[in-house]
Amino acid sequence: MNVRDTEHMIAELGKHQSYETTQNMEDADLIVINTCSVREKPVAKLFSELGNYNKKKKDGAKIGVTGCTASHLGGDIIKRAPYVDFVVGARNISKISQAVEKKGTVEIDINNDETTYEFADFRQSSYRCSVNISLGCDKSCTFCIVPATRGDEISIPTEIIIKEIEKSVKNGAKEVFLLGQNVNNYGKNFSDKRDKSTFTKLLQDISKIDGLERIRFTSPHPLHMDDEFLQEFASNPKICKQIHVPLQAGNDKVLKEMRRGYTKKWFLNRCEKIRNMVPNVRISTDIIVAFPGETDEEFRDTIDVVEKVKFESIFNFKYSPRPHTPAENMPNQIEDKVATKRLQEVIDLHKSHQDEHMEKYLGTTMKVMFEDLKPNGEIFGFSDNYCQVFVTGSEELLGKIVDVKITKANRTSLKGEVVS
Ligand code: SAH
Repeated sequence: MNVRDTEHMIAELGKHQSYETTQNMEDADLIVINTCSVREKPVAKLFSELGNYNKKKKDGAKIGVTGCTASHLGGDIIKRAPYVDFVVGARNISKISQAVEKKGTVEIDINNDETTYEFADFRQSSYRCSVNISLGCDKSCTFCIVPATRGDEISIPTEIIIKEIEKSVKNGAKEVFLLGQNVNNYGKNFSDKRDKSTFTKLLQDISKIDGLERIRFTSPHPLHMDDEFLQEFASNPKICKQIHVPLQAGNDKVLKEMRRGYTKKWFLNRCEKIRNMVPNVRISTDIIVAFPGETDEEFRDTIDVVEKVKFESIFNFKYSPRPHTPAENMPNQIEDKVATKRLQEVIDLHKSHQDEHMEKYLGTTMKVMFEDLKPNGEIFGFSDNYCQVFVTGSEELLGKIVDVKITKANRTSLKGEVVS
């Protein structure tokens, strides 16, 4: 979502202020740092980066801070770093061009409704468009700062989403990446109070767009993976067979304290169903180790789920206490030493699964959409199920979806030859 927010800001600043992007910081008239605040580390990094930019920037260049850290620190950022010109929260991106004009602007209303705002058009990839389908989050996971920085969940009207995708397809996009904090909760709440809709219905509507070949989405929530959605995921040929199923923890007591709304049994059942219904599917997940109070024994349930599901990809995190969250004040915060050990155990186990999965692609043929040419003459793209695949080839392949026979596999990518 941050990448898409950045694209929106580049577009707005280009349209209303005629700014262009530069690869050279010393040339910039404006420096915008778009921030995350899900874990503590990026927040600490912000202030060291700000100091660095302030030292090196061109005379008179402006500096702005945007995104989730802007939402939760607001005007304190300017107090701590007075050379910062403006602060714009994750839910106020449409205000960027006005904020640049007025020193000291702080726009951080987390319930600002941008669902019908038509952002100017810009995207980094020629063949893929990222499109927001909802803003905010209606969950209350006790570890997570997102509801406090992106506000209440509200869906973008279907016709606006369709129009944006159609426009991108006309400009060459073949793939759409639908974005939201809980994409499969789509349609519960629109700002014009129209009738509810569902994510499944949205997927069906989007797949009717002529010229659009692939649909991806992130992140769905395991709780909302009902049978109707799984059926659509399995049977709709335009939906790529890659799905993120964020586990967080395997133990029921920990899941309850995290307020995730599902049990280990439900999670395993959903993954089993997905694997049974969708051959070749790749399942990724997020895991938090050492949530407050998690015992060694409770952590075994996380390992048990990893062993059973054998995820193709895992984003692992040590629990990081965040302001405005209930878990911050829970007793029994876990020592870093223990967290590190648990994290390593997940990583080691996962490595063996990655190798196992990648090896089974050897000799198979995958449909790959090529999107980037490397200086060494290799060209790479993603398979339908989101493996990174490299071949030797020329720019003629860019933007095409072609069959590739896999000849070499390593832990994170594949190599192959185009099948003519
Ligand atoms: N709504 C998104 C969450 C975005 S944050 C989703 O459900 O996928 C991405 C991931 O960051 C979360 O899934 C979680 O694993 C991790 N995360 C969030 N808060 C965290 C915290 N306080 N400490 C460590 N990891 C956290």
